[in-house]
Amino acid sequence: MKDKDSYRAMLAAVQAFHDKHDFKNTGGEELAYRVALMTEELGEISACVTKGKGRECLSEECADLLILLLGTAIAAGFRLDDAFWDKMEKLEQRQSRMINGRIRVSEFRDN
Ligand SMILES: [Mg+2]
Repeated sequence: MKDKDSYRAMLAAVQAFHDKHDFKNTGGEELAYRVALMTEELGEISACVTKGKGRECLSEECADLLILLLGTAIAAGFRLDDAFWDKMEKLEQRQSRMINGRIRVSEFRDN
């Protein structure tokens, strides 16, 4: 039984998918191609929201993007889990502001 909460299990499933289709030797791990695929999925996420397609659509398209992100980490040779925690640590230090009625967390550089 696989631990569905485990990043390691998710990464192993994506690695197995890459291996099954030999992505490494068939262009499936070329970064420019992967960026295009991720952009495509982001568009699908957008359509779920703007066309009111509902949560099931949104969850599936977010999963598509997450799978691509994990695969991009494999292709580019970095640890996405480490990158996630390093970035969360930075975000936790940042301030928030309301801008045009919405909250924004960023590194604000005052004019
Ligand atoms: Mg999709």
